[in-house]
Amino acid sequence: MGAPVAMSPQFASDNNAGICPEAWRALESANRGHASGYGADDWTRAASDALRAAFGTDCDVHFVFNGTAANSLALASICRSTDAIVCHAMAHINVDECGAPGFMSGGATLSTVDLPEAKLTPEAVIDAAVTPHDEHSSRPRALSLTQATELGTVYTPTQIAALADAAHTRRMRVHVDGARFANAVASLGCAPADISWRAGVDVLCLGGTKNGLPGCEAILFFDRELADEFARRRKQAGQLASKMRFLAAPWLGVLEDGAWLRHAAHANAMARRLAAALQRFPQARLLAPVQANGVFVDLPRAAIDALHAKGWHFYPFVGETGVRLMCAWDTPAESVERFAADLGQALAAPARGTAG
Ligand SMILES: *Cc1c(COP(=O)(O)O)cnc(C)c1O
Repeated sequence: MGAPVAMSPQFASDNNAGICPEAWRALESANRGHASGYGADDWTRAASDALRAAFGTDCDVHFVFNGTAANSLALASICRSTDAIVCHAMAHINVDECGAPGFMSGGATLSTVDLPEAKLTPEAVIDAAVTPHDEHSSRPRALSLTQATELGTVYTPTQIAALADAAHTRRMRVHVDGARFANAVASLGCAPADISWRAGVDVLCLGGTKNGLPGCEAILFFDRELADEFARRRKQAGQLASKMRFLAAPWLGVLEDGAWLRHAAHANAMARRLAAALQRFPQARLLAPVQANGVFVDLPRAAIDALHAKGWHFYPFVGETGVRLMCAWDTPAESVERFAADLGQALAAPARGTAG
C-alpha cells in the first residue's frame, strides 16, 4: 500500500468531506496541557453553553461520537421496551442503523409511514398513533422526524409545530434526527429554536459530522426530564468519550461566528446550483424539491455508468437509477460544473449497441 491519497470533491456523501478550518483551529487550541476527562473540562462546558446560546434555551446537552448513537440513545430515553417509534419509511433510524433504536431501548419497534418527499403529516401521525390491538402491539410513544429529510426536503416551523402537536395530543414525545439540521436552518432562514423547542420538539440530535466537525453529534434535551439517566445510557453504549474536550472544542469553533450555518448555506447553494445545471437535461428528472444540500435525481442507466467510469462517486438511493448527490461545506462550484459537463457528454454519447 502506498501513502493515503485524498479524492477530489465527490457527491457520495457530505461525510466524505474533511474538517472545516474553524473546527480544526478550535481542535488545535484545545490541544494544550492537561484537562479533566469525561466532560469535566472547560471546552465541554463552553461548547454546551454555546449550544444553549445558539438555541436560546437552557437545554441539557450531551456529546456522542455519531448519529446512530445519538438517535438510538435519545429514542431510548423516550421509549420503554414495549413502545413504538413512529417514523418515515426512509428514516435513517429505519434503514441505516441496524436496529439500534430497538437494541438501545431493549425492544422498541418502529412503525413506519411512507409518504412523498420523505415527510410525515399530522394525519399520518394520528393514524399511526392508534394501537391496533392493545397488549399485542407496541404502544406508540415517540415521533421521530428527520430535518432536513433523507430526500433533501425540509419541514417548515409550522409543519414541525403541527406534527409535534399531533404527537403530544397522543401522548407521544418528539425526537428530531438533525444530522443535517444546520442545512434546514440555513434553508429556512429561521432561528434554530423555530424548528426545535419553540415548535414542540422534545429532543434534538444535532449533527456536527456532516457539517465540518471531525466526528461528533450533540444531543439537546429541551425537556430535561427525558435526560434522566442519559449519562449512564451513553456510558453503557460505549459513547462516553474520555478525551471529551476534543469532541466539544470543534463545536466552539463552528458556533463562535456562525460558521456552522455559513457552511450549511454553502452546501445548500451548491445543491441548488447542481439541480439547476441538471435541469438543463430533459433526461434528468428531479425526485424531490431541492431544499437542503442533497439532489435526488433519476438518470439514465448508461449515464450513471459513464459518470462512475469518469471517476465520480455517488450512490443509487431511490430504486436503481434514482441517485443521491450530496453537497458538503467544501463542495466547490467547479466540481458542480464539471459533473454537469460530464453528464452532458454522457447523455450526448450514443447508447452502447447502437450504430454510429
Ligand atoms: C448521516 C446520518 C446520520 C448519522 O449516521 P452515523 O453514520 O451513525 O453518524 C443520522 N441520520 C441521518 C438522516 C443521516 O443522514
